[in-house]
Amino acid sequence: MKIIVLKFGGTSVGTVERIKKVADIIVSYIKKKYKVIVISSAMSGVTNDLVKKSEKISKEFEPRELDTLLSTGEQAACSLLAGRLCHLGYNSRSWLGWQIPIITSGKHSSSRIVNINKKKILKYLKSGGIPIVAGFQGVNLQSEITTLGRGGSDTSAIMVAKFFKAFKCIIYTDVIGVMTTDPRVFKKAKKIKVISYEEMLEMSSLGSKVMQSSSVQESRLNRIDVEVKSSFKNNNGTLITKRKNILNNKIITGVSSTKNDAKITLIGVKDRPGIAASIFKPLSDNNINVDMVVQNISSNGNETDLTFTIKSEDASKSEKLIKKNKKINFKKIKIDKNVSKVSIIGVGMITTPGVTYRMFQALSKNKINIMVISTSEIKISVLISKKHLIKAVAALHKEFRLSN
Ligand code: ADP
Ligand code: ASP
Ligand code: MG
Repeated sequence: MKIIVLKFGGTSVGTVERIKKVADIIVSYIKKKYKVIVISSAMSGVTNDLVKKSEKISKEFEPRELDTLLSTGEQAACSLLAGRLCHLGYNSRSWLGWQIPIITSGKHSSSRIVNINKKKILKYLKSGGIPIVAGFQGVNLQSEITTLGRGGSDTSAIMVAKFFKAFKCIIYTDVIGVMTTDPRVFKKAKKIKVISYEEMLEMSSLGSKVMQSSSVQESRLNRIDVEVKSSFKNNNGTLITKRKNILNNKIITGVSSTKNDAKITLIGVKDRPGIAASIFKPLSDNNINVDMVVQNISSNGNETDLTFTIKSEDASKSEKLIKKNKKINFKKIKIDKNVSKVSIIGVGMITTPGVTYRMFQALSKNKINIMVISTSEIKISVLISKKHLIKAVAALHKEFRLSN
């Protein structure tokens, strides 16, 4: 059986008209004799609306109920899509996570798929059916509905491709592929034809939400080739694949950015061994992820200023935890939410000297101040003021000739 997995994101199924178009795309694969497994997201905006409603009910909405609530968006989209295919004369039905079942483990809102029972879907495919599987959801061993984190339908698609040994997985979305940067931030972004798993993983973890980062991690672990393309235009998209398959002379592949970081600075911290650990432990115990860190030793050697970043939604909780932390002494705490992390990503930087210098120079020429820096083998991230974001992305595109 030649199985192909097609995933459609929120905008692709955002209206009744769009759902009709998506049904036509699915039919085109059926006509080419593929066995198609479809993964659908909720219609765009639906999941966000449900989140807002839950917040109006309670600021601490029960996580189990939140997953049950948020997963309903996919149920509606799947049945509309299956209904359209039936209308066109095909045999199709919706499959919710618990009906298959797609088994997950881990916490609500960030569960992981550990197994997919293939039996019923295989039987259905063999009978000529087109299964429309709800993305983003699963069921745990306590029979509770779970979800995979925002953007999780991408991961559903990759895991279905893995378990069913699909020969291809296509992520249909509202952009023409993975671009050198978010086209909503910088209009001159260009489509990347081929990108390695490693670069895509860095890009998505550093803010390019075109693919959920755990879905990229799973495709990398399982060596699944993924194509990202538009459901609006019939063009070739981006292939995400092994580094070995890529012939590329670009130093930098893409630029990612974030808008939801916050910077915390502790001024005049009494310096002693273990101080950083004392500050970060309560944050870690509360699942607050500390990202970039910089520490300046004062001239007298007794005090230090410590700056670090966290997600902005964790800012007020972090402030409270730091203020009530008896193990540390500091003069002042400053919180800045008007920051943005801009990163350049590319395997080419491993073998090319001077990339860091070129990045910093391009930013300084544009009078953009760098607050914090972090690097890895294939990325350099800097924290800047949010108001300079577009200027920074444009400068980096120019410096590394990404729009050419
Ligand atoms: P879907 O609903 O199809 O899953 P998403 O909204 O999750 O779509 O992801 C697609 C969006 O990702 C695009 O509309 C675009 O604004 C954003 N995006 C961010 N970075 C990139 C990038 N480097 N390339 C393409 N799109 C990007
Ligand atoms: N509907 C979910 C969300 O908005 C899952 C997804 O779209 O991938 O996050
Ligand atoms: Mg998405």
